[in-house]
Amino acid sequence: MIVFEAKLEGTQEQYGRLDQAIRTGRFVRNSVIRAWLDKEVKSRNDAYKYCKVLADNPEFPWAKKLNSMARQAHAERAWASIERFYRNCRAKIKGKKRCDPASPSGANASSFKSGNPPNGLAWERAPRQGFPKFAKYKVRASVEYKTSGWKLSESRRYLKFTDGFKAGNFKLWGSRDLHFYQLAQIKRVRVVRRHDGYYAQFLIDEERRIEKELTGVQRGLDVGLNHFYTDNFGEKVDNPRFLRKDERKLQKLQRRLSRTQKGSKNRAKARNRLGRAHLLVSRRRNDWVCKLAQHVIRSSDLIAVENLKVRNMVKNHKLAKSINDVSWYRFREWLEYFGAVYGVPVIAVNPSYTSIKCSNCGEPVVKTLSTRTHSCHTCGYVADRDENAAKNILHTSLKQLSDTVGRTEIHNASGENDLCLDVETQPSKPTRRKRKPL
Ligand SMILES: [Zn+2]
Repeated sequence: MIVFEAKLEGTQEQYGRLDQAIRTGRFVRNSVIRAWLDKEVKSRNDAYKYCKVLADNPEFPWAKKLNSMARQAHAERAWASIERFYRNCRAKIKGKKRCDPASPSGANASSFKSGNPPNGLAWERAPRQGFPKFAKYKVRASVEYKTSGWKLSESRRYLKFTDGFKAGNFKLWGSRDLHFYQLAQIKRVRVVRRHDGYYAQFLIDEERRIEKELTGVQRGLDVGLNHFYTDNFGEKVDNPRFLRKDERKLQKLQRRLSRTQKGSKNRAKARNRLGRAHLLVSRRRNDWVCKLAQHVIRSSDLIAVENLKVRNMVKNHKLAKSINDVSWYRFREWLEYFGAVYGVPVIAVNPSYTSIKCSNCGEPVVKTLSTRTHSCHTCGYVADRDENAAKNILHTSLKQLSDTVGRTEIHNASGENDLCLDVETQPSKPTRRKRKPL
């Protein structure tokens, strides 16, 4: 799938109609989740059927206005979040679910890890992460059409919405040429509302495949705060720290926002200004990360990265901003995307012990966080701390690859074939992960 994006140019009234469509999409999604909680909807098929129930209900005249396939698309969104919840229950992912008797997979209190009291604080505090939530109003929201409810003009420069909201014709602003693809390849059209306007995203059914020369390079990447990443050849890429640069501007705008009165016009303006500033930062960051990922993929035949739980790390407040800033998560996504495009495997490995183990002999070398150099007492190997870690990551990934040939979900297996080190000499995993990037 390729996604093309273009900005929609229309009148304020037209935008208002798009708002109604977005709101209705959210309404459908939330209604399906409500129906699931009430046990009226028990399968994807029920969710589809429930769309009809909503549309036929005279209490919700707006539901009928939304294109029928768009209604289904939003029911699918709801069902996807319900399914993810069930999947997390089955996989017994800690802290990513709430015990729910309605689950068909038999996930109940016993599926909690034994260390977690089912009624204690741990349960209360680990909120309904992963539990389907009702979507609230947000500026950044979207409505999704499938293959009907919209029409591209002959010139493919205008997009018309033809459902009950009658949003009408919009001029498309974008650098992409839609002429290159068949209309039948456009599987979905999504209207995205952002702080700076309305955008149309076209989901085009086309696999991007690019042939790449073999480079003979296998690369392990160790991410950190001092450098964006260090690879196993000792090459370092520095952090751009875009957010830091723009931080003062954002802070100023944030202060202005908090000085305005709630519900006032000035507050709305200030919120918009802040939202735009954030958009600018995130676009800049995404652009940088995307280009870097493409470069890394093109210059390697295999990539190994740490399977970092960014969400867990962000809980650590001091680090949170920097971690978000360097946006490893986005980087990972782009690596995987370009990996598929160029046919380069991207392997995520369990990050445990990667910075402690000696990449030359395998002996553990415990270091404090300030120790930037790895020097092994056993074999005398000396290297940069991050370079050593990157080598370990590459080694682990290759081992993992040979262990799991034929298995599809490679990264799920990483917990099982963990390195056999003396656990007592190692700090526990969670503390190590939090402390390491300092
Ligand atoms: Zn050694």
